[in-house]
Amino acid sequence: MNNTKYVFVTGGVTSSLGKGIIAASLAKLLQQRGFSVTIQKLDPYINIDPGTLNPYEHGECYVTDDGAETDLDLGHYERYLNIPTSQANNVTTGRIYQSVINKERKGEFLGKTVQVIPHITNEIKRRIQLLGETGDYDIVITEIGGTVGDIESLPYVESVRQMLWEKGEDNAIVIHLTLVPFLAAAGELKTKPTQHSVKMLMQSGVSPDILVCRTEHEISDDIKRKLALFCNVKKEDVIQSIDAETIYDVPNLMLKEGLDKVVLKKFNLSAEKEPELRVWNDFLTKHKNPKSEVEIALIGKYIELQDSYKSITEAFIHAGSSNETKVKIRWVHSESLTTTNFKEKLEGVNGVLVAPGFGDRGIDGKIKAVQYARESKIPFLGICLGMQMSVIEFAKNVVGLKDAFSTEMKKECKNPVINLMESQKDVTDKGGTMRLGAWECMLQKGSNAYNAYQAEKISERHRHRYEFNNDYLEQIEAAGMKATGVNPKTGLVEVVEVTDHPWFVGVQYHPEYKSTVLKPHPLFVDFIKASLKQSKS
Ligand code: GLN
Repeated sequence: MNNTKYVFVTGGVTSSLGKGIIAASLAKLLQQRGFSVTIQKLDPYINIDPGTLNPYEHGECYVTDDGAETDLDLGHYERYLNIPTSQANNVTTGRIYQSVINKERKGEFLGKTVQVIPHITNEIKRRIQLLGETGDYDIVITEIGGTVGDIESLPYVESVRQMLWEKGEDNAIVIHLTLVPFLAAAGELKTKPTQHSVKMLMQSGVSPDILVCRTEHEISDDIKRKLALFCNVKKEDVIQSIDAETIYDVPNLMLKEGLDKVVLKKFNLSAEKEPELRVWNDFLTKHKNPKSEVEIALIGKYIELQDSYKSITEAFIHAGSSNETKVKIRWVHSESLTTTNFKEKLEGVNGVLVAPGFGDRGIDGKIKAVQYARESKIPFLGICLGMQMSVIEFAKNVVGLKDAFSTEMKKECKNPVINLMESQKDVTDKGGTMRLGAWECMLQKGSNAYNAYQAEKISERHRHRYEFNNDYLEQIEAAGMKATGVNPKTGLVEVVEVTDHPWFVGVQYHPEYKSTVLKPHPLFVDFIKASLKQSKS
């Protein structure tokens, strides 16, 4: 019999309380106690996935090995747990309705009226249990996006209610994450918003088993007792989650508060083995006690919302710790870089990262940033669009193809060094149609990429439609930019490097998605190492 236990994480009072980080921290503690755990996110919006969402709306779109375009919380899950997520780890209302409607069209409901209850809730429950049914996990944590009380969350809360009833209290529990605000004028922490939010949850028939209370100040025993009394939980089930210096402190804070123990107790599982956090804490110590500092310019067009580059900034934290170096980011808006000011704007940085992106806004600034890094011999990492811009810059300024460009920005350009992939030419739908997910790449021995990975064959995640145009390969290589990583099956160029430069690497894939606390990404580690060297020279 399958004995998977289910933890549901709901949120109340406000959004942005960090449900994803609490879920990931709990999962980490349980994992380090020897349980196999995964985390899933249910998003109540109607988009099929966040792939078509503007980053300003929703932050970064995170991509899994199996090519799912997902919520950025999945990035946290992977960074904490060091195990890959997949399609099944992110479900949206759009996806739920799509499957139900497809079934209806096939006549699978045998003439019945199709309704939110039971048809939509059954599909939600089926999706929740998919991961449990693999038999791979002792515990599945399901984070419900949004806040209780939102109209679009109702079918999810109802599905949770049904699952609690079906599975029984030893097998399914609810953690409600809420805010306990501090009113400066009254000089007090206030419990009322939490009481209201729990009441809202109870109106849907769900009583939380555990309250995790986000707070800026220590929550006293008295307040815990009050929260317990009014919210129908035991005092020991009221867990304080105080603001942390870094999100990577949260597992230790939750350990101190006993969140994992309370969860295990409810499931009648043993909490004898303490979590093994040696590697985690070693990472933290190095992160908090850097011996040096580098400054990296991050060039992008969404920098007003730094969540758009979440995986990149986290990868810098992992790589910084591994180099015992603080990585300071100089956020540079690509639209603010012009022919006259780019030197001054980038002056003094030890490395340049040109970020992924779509469309032509800010493109000239990105090209200028590449030129600056190449000519001043400053370590450079170009990711996806950043790599494509490095090819264009090189073709223009070194090969001498003045009108070199990408057909993404200039359809009729004379020298399309970056071109639409053959497989994309007949694609008209925008959602889920890019080259997505993990693809293999063979690295050239002796290249900077090879030296970083210490491997010839690698696999990395992709999300793009355009590619290096191999018609220009010979010319570009002859001038000193080499294709040092190539897809062995299709010949697509995956990595380019400028040879006459200390460290200049452009990658068509997204290394940032695979950087975790346990395994900082080798390219980021070497990029920071090279930037550190630059800072000392
Ligand atoms: N817009 C480019 C393409 O589609 C790059 C995409 C990206 O940076 N993820 O190929």
